[in-house]
Amino acid sequence: MQLQRFSFNALKDFLKQQNEPIFRYKQLQQALFREPHLTFHELTTLPLPLREKLISVFGDDLLPLRLLRVQKGMQASKYLFALQDGERIESVYMQFQEGLKSLCISTQVGCACRCAFCATGKIGIQRNLTVEEILGQVLYVSKTVTPIDRITIMGMGEALLNPHIFEVIHHFTATDEFQLSPYKLSISTVGIVPGIRKLTQLYPQVTLTFSLHFPSQTLREQWMPTAQHHRLEDIFEALDERAKLTNRKIYLAYMVMDGINNRLQDLEALKSIFEARGPLRHLYHVNLIPFHPIPHSKVQETHKSVVLRFQKQLKQHRIVATVRQSFGKSIQAACGQLSAAYPVHLQKSS
Ligand code: SF4
Repeated sequence: MQLQRFSFNALKDFLKQQNEPIFRYKQLQQALFREPHLTFHELTTLPLPLREKLISVFGDDLLPLRLLRVQKGMQASKYLFALQDGERIESVYMQFQEGLKSLCISTQVGCACRCAFCATGKIGIQRNLTVEEILGQVLYVSKTVTPIDRITIMGMGEALLNPHIFEVIHHFTATDEFQLSPYKLSISTVGIVPGIRKLTQLYPQVTLTFSLHFPSQTLREQWMPTAQHHRLEDIFEALDERAKLTNRKIYLAYMVMDGINNRLQDLEALKSIFEARGPLRHLYHVNLIPFHPIPHSKVQETHKSVVLRFQKQLKQHRIVATVRQSFGKSIQAACGQLSAAYPVHLQKSS
């Protein structure tokens, strides 16, 4: 018999069909989110006949992904997962000096946005990840490696183009599930305006990063094709609404590419963006990121001194900017480098 794809809804339906009491679902939630188990077989709190039925319907795995490889860097490790249909995704675990443990997760296989500086964008979109595949990345690491203090939804894919993302945030923050404070959850977007508005409505406490990278509409359209559909002025209107409502900082990610987006006119354009924010200006913060090389890119890696010089220039214009620590460059795990591209022996497996 063909196995059914495991999902929260399928599980609920199955338990209902079996006339199982409501607390069975609670037991399974507990096992999934709070206990180290990876298989139904290990769930000895459930009666054996029920475990056997669950295995016969969904298979033994509680998580819909399988670890293929871990690459360890200085403060970052990159996890390559195979999904049940053989697609592959990556997640990046980072340990900060203060002891905080963070996981950067993917939301799509590839990405439709095709930003020219990003290795994921080169793949194009294969599909959205399911709720369980997105959660599964965090659950795998927290069950088998270490508890996770922070989650950043900034890996492969544009999170606000995946319709499941709000359900995912619900599971991460629900008190009877992963129980993470929404303040410890960060999400980045290239500027999907309806998604930003929905996030403000449903999850004002989640930290938002807007991947600005290019401060003029023309330059953005050249490098980031989605900019044709989401204009800078509309994006900032949605961001201002969020800033006003939440009074929380909004981060502007800016990947510095020497001679491309750190010229005098770029500085002027950034200055205008900040001036246009008026009384909300103090709620915007620039995160500068050096450009990291990706295969077949004509753009050179950005030296840290170039980024520091740009930071100083921004400061002269009263724009607060931090140079973001680049974790995982040596293992191609830094911003824009994730592609899940590996040698043949690690390619799609069934
Ligand atoms: S930068 Fe983000 S949105 Fe752009 S192609 Fe890469 S993953 Fe997609």
